[in-house]
Amino acid sequence: MKRDWLEIIGSVNRPQLGEEIPILIFRAFRVFSGEYLRDILGDKGAVVLFQNAGRELGRSLGEKLKSDSVEGYLENVGAFMKESKIGLLVPERVEKDEGILRIEECITCSGMPNIGMRICHFEAGFVAGLFESFLRKKVKATETKCNAMGEGVCEVKVEF
Ligand SMILES: [Zn+2]
Repeated sequence: MKRDWLEIIGSVNRPQLGEEIPILIFRAFRVFSGEYLRDILGDKGAVVLFQNAGRELGRSLGEKLKSDSVEGYLENVGAFMKESKIGLLVPERVEKDEGILRIEECITCSGMPNIGMRICHFEAGFVAGLFESFLRKKVKATETKCNAMGEGVCEVKVEF
């Protein structure tokens, strides 16, 4: 049986501490998990795992953000990403075969120094999952730019 994780984790009881955390803590959880996975699975395995996890989340969320047109859908997605502070989604171009989307002020990499590697595989998968939910088919995603690679922005390429 597939659990509705969004529903489960959305139930928060923190009367004193509330629902927000410093972004540093989110990044620490994220990056420490990622580094450990890289030790265990190697670069490629860790990328696939993070990307697929993001993809699952994107698919689940996509079901809640439905719209008739791709423009309307991306607007809903952008509004959600802004409201939940994941980042500012900027569709650079979305064509028949592929799309290029930027995530400005990315939750994971924005402001990070250049450490010589791209790290937003979860976000890349997330964007792919959102498209999969809309298009009802599997798509390929690649992180093509990342602040952690010194590229000044977080960018995802999606191939339909
Ligand atoms: Zn990023």
